[in-house]
Amino acid sequence: MTITHEEFQARAKEFLQANAVPHSQPPVEWTEESLVAECRRFHQALADADLGGITYPVEYGGLGLDKGYLEVFNQELSRYQAPLVPAAISHGMCLPVMNDFGTDEQKARHQARIIRCDELWCQMFSEPGAGSDVASLATRAIRDGDQWVLNGQKVWTSGAQYCEYGLCVARTDPAQPKHRGLSMFIVDLSLPGVDIRPLRQINGSSHFNEIYLTDVSVGHDCLVGGEGNGWNVAVAMLMYERVAIGAGGSGAMSRSMGSAKLITEARQRGRDDDPVVRDAIADLYIRERIQKFIGMRIRQAVESGKAPGPEGSIAKLNAAILSRRASDVAIELAGPSGQAWNAKDEDADEWANAVIGAPAMAIAGGTNEVQRNIIGERVLGLPKEPDPFKGQPWEEVPRS
Ligand SMILES: Cc1cc2nc3c(=O)[nH]c(=O)nc-3n(C[C@H](O)[C@H](O)[C@H](O)COP(=O)(O)OP(=O)(O)OC[C@H]3O[C@@H](n4cnc5c(N)ncnc54)[C@H](O)[C@@H]3O)c2cc1C
Repeated sequence: MTITHEEFQARAKEFLQANAVPHSQPPVEWTEESLVAECRRFHQALADADLGGITYPVEYGGLGLDKGYLEVFNQELSRYQAPLVPAAISHGMCLPVMNDFGTDEQKARHQARIIRCDELWCQMFSEPGAGSDVASLATRAIRDGDQWVLNGQKVWTSGAQYCEYGLCVARTDPAQPKHRGLSMFIVDLSLPGVDIRPLRQINGSSHFNEIYLTDVSVGHDCLVGGEGNGWNVAVAMLMYERVAIGAGGSGAMSRSMGSAKLITEARQRGRDDDPVVRDAIADLYIRERIQKFIGMRIRQAVESGKAPGPEGSIAKLNAAILSRRASDVAIELAGPSGQAWNAKDEDADEWANAVIGAPAMAIAGGTNEVQRNIIGERVLGLPKEPDPFKGQPWEEVPRS
């Protein structure tokens, strides 16, 4: 496709004016269900308008353009409220991993459908006994002719209740050390033996699920990246996740609870000349700018062909710290009404919900402590954490 940045920008502008609501207008109220439906509709319309899958190959439903066009699109998108969240894992993690590791047949089967949100995908990594140390996971996949039979339990699986597929990492060879002997599978979530149970959160919504896998049979053609290569695929996916959380192009986090919103809030509450509040918001603004530059640096590195590395951890850690600081300022402004939240109470403060959700940023995609370990080892060159079981077969390592 031959198109200049200016032409592409004009196309994006025209589409967004017709299909999304600018941030300058009151917030769009989506329910959990309507958000998913709107997300699918929005991405189908994007693809029909030749704006979907910008950097992905044309033969797999993309536009085959370079990342400069993605920046142009994200710049326009950042001015609008768009129903993107239900596709964040599909598009931010599963799609790039499929593109990097999928077979031609897998890409032909799924990529265009993921781009259009005809299929939504989730990430099935964490287990009750394996979160930070996800490589110790216990879900088993055993080969049976042309099939693999999966048994185990996943947890904290975001969005699984409305997804069609999951990328699931499972242990295929327990006689290998924990990082080896893992493989990545495409799991059709409508298969017999897949039991998805939403978990109710403190804020009343159900973002996460437990997924029980009981004799779930998937074809050998669902193996992504080859047998025993699951850890490499999982690490790539986690890197994409950290980049998506820490360096996402649309600036969604800073808008939902960032300095601009807090300034408006301070004015409305008559606190805008309080020096403590002013100091806290100024500090937040400086940190937001730093976060923006970290994001730009990562995106430019990715544009020049570098795979996302430990800098994703820096961006993700900073985003989590930023989110916590913003929630501290918000709660200071909101006072007692920011302490509790009830979705049915019309007088409840919108900040309470945002504040309750802020700590999740320090856990999702690897906790702050885990990011600090990665930065210590891979950026600062500090010694690795001691592992008394290093190199031992997974099946011989004691587990609680
Ligand atoms: C919003 C959100 C969305 C999520 N979505 C998904 C999803 O879609 N799919 C999925 O698979 N998972 C998902 N998760 C799960 C997430 O990846 C895990 O919660 C996370 O990796 C931490 O694992 P854990 O909860 O088992 O905590 P644990 O690993 O048990 O950690 C407990 C505490 O110990 C600390 N700790 C652990 N190991 C170390 C260490 N080596 N050094 C220092 N401190 C350490 C941790 O920092 C933490 O404070 C999500 C979580 C959140 C909050």
